[in-house]
Amino acid sequence: MPRDTLDLHLPSLPVAGAMAVMCPGVVAFAGSGPGDVDLLTLKVLKALQEADVILYDRLVSDEIMALAHVDAILEDVGKEGFGPSMAQDEICARLVYHAKRGLKVLRLKSGDPTIFGRLDEELSACEAADVDTQILPGITAASAAVAAIGQSLTQRGRNSSVRFLTGHDMKGFADHDWAQLARPGEVAAVYMGKKSARFVQGRLLMHGADRMTPVTVVENASRADQRVLATTLDQLPADLAAANFSGPALTFLGLAPRNAIAVAAPSEIQVELA
Ligand code: SAH
Repeated sequence: MPRDTLDLHLPSLPVAGAMAVMCPGVVAFAGSGPGDVDLLTLKVLKALQEADVILYDRLVSDEIMALAHVDAILEDVGKEGFGPSMAQDEICARLVYHAKRGLKVLRLKSGDPTIFGRLDEELSACEAADVDTQILPGITAASAAVAAIGQSLTQRGRNSSVRFLTGHDMKGFADHDWAQLARPGEVAAVYMGKKSARFVQGRLLMHGADRMTPVTVVENASRADQRVLATTLDQLPADLAAANFSGPALTFLGLAPRNAIAVAAPSEIQVELA
């Protein structure tokens, strides 16, 4: 872990509030945001500095882990889609073990810990072991991705609600209210949606969705290697395969990048970050 690559002079940061965030024997579940260090909340930054042990997920960026206290124990418990991972039970057991030793335990998840983070399983394990917990929110990937395309998740007259969906769940491709999602103007943010793109397309078309419904995929939202693919429901599987995204990607159903709305043909847009 490149912990010495950033020299941020943390003590001089204008961190509000003198109160400590972390308590001995308590597990804090925190969100690290979508990757950009500047999208970390000050509270989570304080937690990173105070924690004795940090159990972190695969999508927590190296730049953020570099902000951990130099003496903190770092445990990589990363999980990947369908791939190999530390068993959930083992993660729960480690959280309880460290808390029972009186350590300040930080469980760091990407984005916001309450969104597709299997938070409840870990909260329940702590509860069952009489370990106190707290939740420190973070900026979820959908918020960073929608900002990247200059759009709004809700719009008066277009959609008065927005859904956060997962592309797959423990049983395989996740089922949803496709009839509702297929209606004009609906907006949904699909997490873990790369492998399920063809399945989602098929279900929506089967329920009468317009083939020309705009779809936008944002890879590595907020990171230096962010990429945006603007396409349509019709072309989604083909364009996604051609784009060959290897990083985490968020798919918006029903949204086009603001600067591409007038563009007829699906196009790939590189978004440069300053
Ligand atoms: N708790 C996280 C989501 C975890 S599920 C959050 O609130 O953001 C993991 C999925 O989140 C990825 O498969 C991807 O769909 C999405 N994701 C996470 N970080 C992302 C990023 N920087 N850019 C695009 N999508 C991201």
